[in-house]
Amino acid sequence: MTEGSQQKRVVVVGAGWAGLGATYHLAKQGYDVTLLEAGPYPGGLVAGWQTAAGKSVEASIHGFWYPYRNIFALINELEINPFTTWTRSAQYSPAGLEVESPIFQDLPRLPTPLGTFIYTQFQRLPLIDRLSALPLLYAVVDFDNSDAAWRRYDFVTARELFKEFGVSARLYKEAFEPMLLVGLFAPGEQCSAAATIGMLYYFILAHQPDFDVVWCRGTVGEKIFRPWVERIEKTGAKLLSKRRVTDIIVENNQKVTGVVCGDEVFDADAVIFAVGVSGMKKIVSTSPNLQSREEFRNLSNLGAIDVLATRLWFDRKIEIPRPSNACFGFDDTTGWTFFDLNALHDEYRDEPGTVIEVDFYHANQFLSLSDAEIVGIVQGYLATCLPAFREAKVIDSSVIRLPQAVTHFAPGSYRYMLPVKTSFKNVFMSGDWIVSRHGSWSQEKAFVTGLEAANSVISYLGEGKLAEILAVEEDEVHIQAARNLNQTVRDLGKSILPEFWLP
Ligand SMILES: Cc1cc2nc3c(=O)[nH]c(=O)nc-3n(C[C@H](O)[C@H](O)[C@H](O)COP(=O)(O)OP(=O)(O)OC[C@H]3O[C@@H](n4cnc5c(N)ncnc54)[C@H](O)[C@@H]3O)c2cc1C
Repeated sequence: MTEGSQQKRVVVVGAGWAGLGATYHLAKQGYDVTLLEAGPYPGGLVAGWQTAAGKSVEASIHGFWYPYRNIFALINELEINPFTTWTRSAQYSPAGLEVESPIFQDLPRLPTPLGTFIYTQFQRLPLIDRLSALPLLYAVVDFDNSDAAWRRYDFVTARELFKEFGVSARLYKEAFEPMLLVGLFAPGEQCSAAATIGMLYYFILAHQPDFDVVWCRGTVGEKIFRPWVERIEKTGAKLLSKRRVTDIIVENNQKVTGVVCGDEVFDADAVIFAVGVSGMKKIVSTSPNLQSREEFRNLSNLGAIDVLATRLWFDRKIEIPRPSNACFGFDDTTGWTFFDLNALHDEYRDEPGTVIEVDFYHANQFLSLSDAEIVGIVQGYLATCLPAFREAKVIDSSVIRLPQAVTHFAPGSYRYMLPVKTSFKNVFMSGDWIVSRHGSWSQEKAFVTGLEAANSVISYLGEGKLAEILAVEEDEVHIQAARNLNQTVRDLGKSILPEFWLP
């Protein structure tokens, strides 16, 4: 901001990855930023806190995958060292160990997707089933994350996509659907095919090392958000917790001049919403000003998914082959993961017993159970994977229910998701459900869209430098060539019969 000029005021709503990212960049550019957070701590879905007994817990464990370039750049800028080394993972079903993944970047790099195909160690799945994935490569080439591609694939379910491309029943049940349950938090018949290909491409298929992952050596709240929030506060931004936004104030039906939070009003030259789908729907329901716009009214067509995060302390040491594990086949529409926190978190390294985080995705049917019932189910499932859990005693536990917490990328939902720019000229959107052409997902996408919203504020208010957003690594040459060829054929088809068939 130029010296002597009045600082422009920006209000950011929601202190997850998106809101903190936007706040940090704008405060560094000299804006007067106020970040309003409904909860008691920053972090959003990644928040961590301590129980009354002083034990660290969090709203589920979060991995940081190889392509999270912008988050890794932030970590370097903050000069912190929160992560484990790259870890190997495993997959279990009620039949036992199913899959082990290597650290892909340590192995000779092959043109994608050969490395993923050859180096992943399937214990049971026959080669013929794995080969049935090959025709899907056409959809991977055809889906280039453009608006047109989303509109082509979003109305189709993931299950229909896999069926149409001839994927075997076993490959679908034992590989693809488990990935959907932990990646998009829903079973295949409830996932958009567009979101499915986009997510699988980003995390697994685009480049051999993409599936490599690190974890925080404690809660993300303690290892990343605490030092980051300290840095943000040093830049002069105000972070106010326990402030639930309910409405906006609009001038001449065009420009927002303030944000309403109960009895308080925060004046604003620009506003960034950085709340999840459920939070945004709630704000719209209490805001006649937002309800007056179709794009915000239409958010009631979007949905969210229940998740459950549990942490169990056992009385003895149990040998767990890999620190992070995904599981399928226990409940038809629920995926779950378990993590060895003695291996991942500094705090538990020398613990005499075993500390395990077990998270359930699409956990609808579990949320109404009592804590004791949930802990019993968790121990039973763990014992099915690793029998040593059967004899161990649970000496402490934490159960965190997160109803309607995470975005549901349902078939047909794309048309209702909002882009960064809204019909109000000074209101911008961010978060992991916002339409972005960047190509990232989850925490990285939330952070990137926060920076995109900050850049829109800078372009609108005209002061400060745009945040540098690192692009996703380029497609490999053979994928680029296949995409170019495919586009040429598509354009030719369109010139002969424009828009005749359903997309
Ligand atoms: C079980 C689970 C496991 C996951 N695992 C991973 C993983 O391993 N790796 C990964 O990258 N991602 C993972 N994710 C996804 C990741 O958590 C999200 O993509 C990311 O945290 C979204 O950040 P956000 O800033 O968009 O939104 P959020 O984190 O949802 O933040 C929104 C904030 O807005 C606040 N808010 C809501 N309403 C209001 C209001 N009216 N006024 C003020 N504030 C409000 C909320 O309290 C919240 O703090 C997982 C998610 C879940 C649920």
